[in-house]
Amino acid sequence: MSEQNNLQEIVAERLQAYLKARKLRHTPERFAILEAIYETEGTFTAEQLREIMEKKRFPVSIATVYATTRLLVEANLLMRHPYNSASALFERIIDPYPRVYLVCGKCGNISQLKNKELLNVFEQTRTPRFTTTHRIAYIYGFCSKCQRSLRYKKRPSIKQKNQKHT
Ligand SMILES: [Zn+2]
Repeated sequence: MSEQNNLQEIVAERLQAYLKARKLRHTPERFAILEAIYETEGTFTAEQLREIMEKKRFPVSIATVYATTRLLVEANLLMRHPYNSASALFERIIDPYPRVYLVCGKCGNISQLKNKELLNVFEQTRTPRFTTTHRIAYIYGFCSKCQRSLRYKKRPSIKQKNQKHT
């Protein structure tokens, strides 16, 4: 069995258990959407997920996509990135964690920062009285494309300014 099939089986079992425990209906749409999510690498919006379902020849309404993504987030099978952008960005929950994302404040694009030292510290950070499920951090700023278009110039920070006076 391939790794991808194995992953699909694991997440389908988790959804099944979640629905059963809450006495929710086992609808084909929910499982088809879950499968599409776990075939998708990186982030996607609800509208993009609807298009993916259309390509899979399993068309669903945008209302179904919204309702199902909400359910899957609650079931800890889908991650909703918590920052504000025009539309919410979703991503499957899959190893490896932790992750550090760079978020562009202009275009909303996100990319991963691969800094081994930072990731190691982040992974080992203890979280007393808190059960951690996945470790994610965000660094905000502007991507190189937007930086060029904004002609954004790095200004000295307040701290640096203050240091000049002392
Ligand atoms: Zn950008």
